[in-house]
Amino acid sequence: MASAEITVPSFAPSPDGIDHFFGTRWSSLSMTPGRSFAASRRHGDRGAATVVLSVRQVHGTDALVLDQPVREGESFEGGWDALVTNQPGVMVTVRTADCVPVLLHDPVQRVVAAVHAGWRGAVSGIVPKTVALLVARFGATVDRLRMAIGPSAGPCCYEVDAPVLMRLREAFPDWRDVVEPVGTERAHLDLRAFVRRQGLAEGLQADRISTVNACTICHPDLFFSYRREGVVKATMVSGIALLPKP
Ligand SMILES: [Zn+2]
Repeated sequence: MASAEITVPSFAPSPDGIDHFFGTRWSSLSMTPGRSFAASRRHGDRGAATVVLSVRQVHGTDALVLDQPVREGESFEGGWDALVTNQPGVMVTVRTADCVPVLLHDPVQRVVAAVHAGWRGAVSGIVPKTVALLVARFGATVDRLRMAIGPSAGPCCYEVDAPVLMRLREAFPDWRDVVEPVGTERAHLDLRAFVRRQGLAEGLQADRISTVNACTICHPDLFFSYRREGVVKATMVSGIALLPKP
């Protein structure tokens, strides 16, 4: 399958040594939900093996920070919805179906992050929290930080109810900008726009934020979707890695 994975031009692979992708249902990389482990993946063109790390996700806002080398087969006890690393050769991944996968990269400090942002994680501030962590712990600066927002449930399909809207209203004063009301109690939520707005509020530059405008619910040919399928069939894997220096 030619287009099994989606990439964004601003994260183009080689110049500063990163590899990234947003998975589709046709991606070859699959990870077992609920398990935390590292496996290896070989880069065709570079010939370098990357350790791919996937962890249990809990719809929270905690980040697992990997600032030491990770070995294949290593396991991690716990649950995290953000993974951060400054280790070349370690690919941090998240699994999503309708939630938003977010990738972050500071090209100067050489640090990357993968974030799983569903509505719960997003309203709880997982994206601002992860950006703050990159700044505080790795010396990243927000005005050169790059963010890529991947395929997720789109505003065309993602209907949410009053309890979700209440949480959104509490978390985000401009919440009306990212919803389209459906009657009085429900609305279509643009989760990707919400995440983008959170990035801008943290000080990221608009031209350094890329969004893949593809909806997981209305593209069964490309994506898995909990909403559409009603069950947890499978998830897409998205990831980012700093490549080892050639
Ligand atoms: Zn849609």
